Amino acid sequence: MTDLAHNLAHIQHEIQSSCSNRDITLIAVSKKQSIERIKAAHSLGLSHFGENYAQELEQKAEALKSLSLVWHFMGPIQSNKTKIIAQHAHWVHSLDRLKIVTRLNEQAKDANRQLQCLIQVNIDGEAQKGGVAPNEITALAKAIEQAPQLTLRGLMLIPEKAQDSSQTFAKCRELFNTLADQFTTVDTLSMGMSNDYAQAIQHGSTMVRIGTALMGERPTS
Ligand SMILES: *Cc1c(COP(=O)(O)O)cnc(C)c1O
Repeated sequence: MTDLAHNLAHIQHEIQSSCSNRDITLIAVSKKQSIERIKAAHSLGLSHFGENYAQELEQKAEALKSLSLVWHFMGPIQSNKTKIIAQHAHWVHSLDRLKIVTRLNEQAKDANRQLQCLIQVNIDGEAQKGGVAPNEITALAKAIEQAPQLTLRGLMLIPEKAQDSSQTFAKCRELFNTLADQFTTVDTLSMGMSNDYAQAIQHGSTMVRIGTALMGERPTS
């Protein structure tokens, strides 16, 4: 068994034992990983891949076009990169401001594409981190709902590294439930990474983003 197959089997087992058979989408976070590594993951049955850098997304999506992978963009979004994202991502996890919503909608229209959108929330209030404060979610959700090329699907969370994330996950699930009551298209809560995905699933996550625990350490260059 390859290391990748071994990692995947372990993760799938953990997911199963954390969720009592809810449907959980596993995203292989492939940032900084090679095209070959992505192909190997695809050959094991994975089809959702996550990227953080627009140009890297573009290169990989073009190189792997024939595999019809589902690409998730989850990095900070600079406004001069929205066109690349609109052309190549199927999902955008890191929406956190109106200007980006407007640009993505226009550029997705030019590309004749529909983007599945998540609002990144910042519950810990870390100033340097992306994401909107809980009381700003509804306004941004309304803007996404009114953008014809964007479909509002839910929330994305990156918890603060140092602390126990249990309370943050619980709070995020509450915010998600409130949003799902207001907007009928909302069905996705993206939370959980290599170190905390089992816990995130226990708190109601529906989509996990796993990099190092699945794909291995990221090459540093
Ligand atoms: C890099 C990254 C991940 C994966 O992180 P790991 O700890 O390697 O699993 C998940 N989500 C986002 C937004 C990331 O930037």
